[in-house]
Amino acid sequence: MRAAVLTALETVVLEDRPEPEARPGWAVVQVESMSLCGTDVHQYDGRIDTPFPRVPGHDFSGRVVAVGEGADEGWVGQPVAVKPSLPCGDCLECSQDKPFDCKKKKLIGLWSDGCMTERIAVPVVNLIPRPEGVEAWQASLLEPIAVGLNTVDRLRILLGETVVVLGQGPIGLALTRLCALSGAGRLIVTDAREAPFEVSRAYGASDCLDVTQVDAKETILELTDGAGADIVIETSGFPASSAMVLDVVRKEGKVAHIGWANDLPPLPVIPIMAKTLTVFGVGGNGGRGQYERAQELVRTGRLDLDPMVTHRFALDDIAEAFEVASSKSGGAIKVVVAP
Ligand SMILES: [Zn+2]
Ligand SMILES: [Zn+2]
Repeated sequence: MRAAVLTALETVVLEDRPEPEARPGWAVVQVESMSLCGTDVHQYDGRIDTPFPRVPGHDFSGRVVAVGEGADEGWVGQPVAVKPSLPCGDCLECSQDKPFDCKKKKLIGLWSDGCMTERIAVPVVNLIPRPEGVEAWQASLLEPIAVGLNTVDRLRILLGETVVVLGQGPIGLALTRLCALSGAGRLIVTDAREAPFEVSRAYGASDCLDVTQVDAKETILELTDGAGADIVIETSGFPASSAMVLDVVRKEGKVAHIGWANDLPPLPVIPIMAKTLTVFGVGGNGGRGQYERAQELVRTGRLDLDPMVTHRFALDDIAEAFEVASSKSGGAIKVVVAP
């Protein structure tokens, strides 16, 4: 079967790989759709160290074609979405049947070969039934929504509160929609590109600030009468954006950090104390119902993923898909690939 393989930095080629096997407790999934995320792109550009050669990819959906010993045969033929991290299988949490509490979970496509292929084996516990009304391409875009939900779950937004979302990549856009659904009043977003703002507005943003055109900190303070926002969510990972978070949140407000970079400024403790702030970090999708609820928001039409998908490719054109996702050319937001 065909598989996309990262063989070196910025090099992805199609190779013929052996068929996966359904080990005990595992299932083989026929991949119907996959999407590229920042992790894949950073494995490609070298910001995330990857053992090459590696089949990348972890955000995908498909249909179960086989199950191994001990797994419910009823899965065979079922359409599924797939949670992207593999539980280790032998820690305390795993042995107590709580695989999503495993502290040693490893991302598919980074620590083992991923989904950019025709068929892949995954543990049955990673499968989520995909209901009628959710298409394969939609179910291959659940990860940023699940990360967004893991964030919003912790923020407890009150109706009408002012929320700032810094960065409008896929997770920032997901958060814009989720905060709007959660009752945000004024919803201010920032990005260094105009391209995502059309989606931001469709998702409920009230003010879109292009940080290359305006002083975001000054503008946010103006828009909040100098007080700052009730909630500030940093998703961009840009040092300048992370550095202003504590300046644009109000006294007793809440801050969530999701954007990742190796050169982020240290967190200043004094303003956190002086303003009596609550500061969260969110490092993943939570794995406690976030995927299931993300899918439900898609199924019910409360979250329309269509505006986020700017490019679609076939697996045969995977090199071009990576090039577009990496350069963000043509206003790229989400790139979807079908085998
Ligand atoms: Zn991802
Ligand atoms: Zn474990």
